[in-house]
Amino acid sequence: QSKDFDDDNDPGRVRVSVRVRPRNGEELISDADFSDLVELQPEIKRLKLKKNNWNSESYRFDEVFTDTASQKRVYEGVAKPVVEGVLNGYNGTIMAYGQTGTGKTYTVGKIGKDDAAERGIMVRALEDILVNASSASASVSVEISYLQLYMETIQDLLAPEKNNISINEDAKTGEVSVPGATVVHIQDLDHFLQVLQVGETNRHAANTKMNTESSRSHAILTVHVRRAMNEKAEMGTKSRDKEAKPESMDKGIPKVRKSKLLIVDLAGSERINKSGTDGHLIEEAKFINLSLTSLGKCINALAEGSSHIPTRDSKLTRLLRDSFGGSARTSLIITIGPSARYHAETTSTIMFGQRAMKIVNMVKLKEE
Ligand code: ADP
Repeated sequence: QSKDFDDDNDPGRVRVSVRVRPRNGEELISDADFSDLVELQPEIKRLKLKKNNWNSESYRFDEVFTDTASQKRVYEGVAKPVVEGVLNGYNGTIMAYGQTGTGKTYTVGKIGKDDAAERGIMVRALEDILVNASSASASVSVEISYLQLYMETIQDLLAPEKNNISINEDAKTGEVSVPGATVVHIQDLDHFLQVLQVGETNRHAANTKMNTESSRSHAILTVHVRRAMNEKAEMGTKSRDKEAKPESMDKGIPKVRKSKLLIVDLAGSERINKSGTDGHLIEEAKFINLSLTSLGKCINALAEGSSHIPTRDSKLTRLLRDSFGGSARTSLIITIGPSARYHAETTSTIMFGQRAMKIVNMVKLKEE
C-alpha cells in the first residue's frame, strides 16, 4: 500500500521522527565517519541510508533531528501535536524506539534538575498540560501513574512493593486501565518533578536488585487528564440570558472530557544474544523480544490497514490498546547512534520507523 507523506499536519497518521545522538568521546576519537552510513537532510525531512558502496535509499520522516537539535525543538516536533490532542479529548501515545545508548531516555525522560533546557518530553508535556489547567474557561485535573514493564511483569515505579500489577480491559468500552497502580494527583510542575525523580530512583533500585539494566525494561508514564468546562467562566463570557445557557449547565452537569497520554521509553531494540548459557538471559531475551516483536507486529498490521491488530500478544500492546491506532494520536521518535559501526541496528531502527509512517489512524471526535 503506497502512502503519500506530504500532509504534515494530518493528525490521522502516526508521526515518526528520527533523532541522532551527539558523538561521545570515544566515537569522536575512533570512529569511522557516520556519513559513510547515514546522511541527514533535516531541511527536507529526509534521511539517506547507504546500503552499500553503490546504493543508498532516501526515507521521509515527519522530522529529522541532527545532533544539535534542542530538547525544546524535539518536544515541539514530536510531542506537542499529541499533547494538544489529549487536551481536546483524544488519547495519545508518544514512544521512543531505538538501540540502547542512542538517547531514548534523554529524549523522553530527562528530568533536567540542573538545567531546565535539558528537560525531556515527559516534563515538557506535563508543563504544557498544567499550564492549560490554569485557564479561565476550564479546570483540568491531572493524575499520573508510572510503571515499568519487565519480562511481562508490571512494576509500580511509585510503589516498588507492587511488583506484579494486572491490566484491566473494559469489555464494553475497550478502555484499558491498571487498577492496582499508584495514581498521583499532580498539583504543579515541581510536584511532578519530585514524583518523576522518585520513579527514577525506584527504577534504578529495582533494576539493581534484579541485576538487570534499565535498558531492558519499558518505562511507561500515564497521564490522565480530566477537563471540565468552568461554568462561571462560560456564563461570564456568554450572554447572561438564561436561554443561552447549554442545557447541561441548567442541570448543574459540567461538560467533562477525559483522555489519557502514554509516554513510553521502550526497552533497547537491539537483539539480545539468545545463544548464551545463562538461563536468565535467555528467558529475558525471549520476553523482551516478545513485547517489542508484538509492537512491531501491531505496527505492521496497522500499516497494512488490517482489521485484526494482534494487541493481545504482549502486555505492552495490551497497555497501548486504547491509545494507539483508532482515534488516538501517536508519535514515535526513533533514535540512532552517530556511528557507522551500528550499521545493523541503525538500519533496523529506520525500517521500523518507516513501517510506522504508513499507519493511518482514524481520528474521530470522541463521544463525550
Ligand atoms: P538510551 O535511553 O537509548 O539507552 P540514553 O538516553 O541513556 O540512551 O543516552 C545515552 C547517553 O547519551 C547518555 O549519557 C545521554 O545523556 C547522552 N545523550 C543522548 N542523547 C543526547 C543528546 N541529544 N544530547 C546530549 N547528550 C545525549
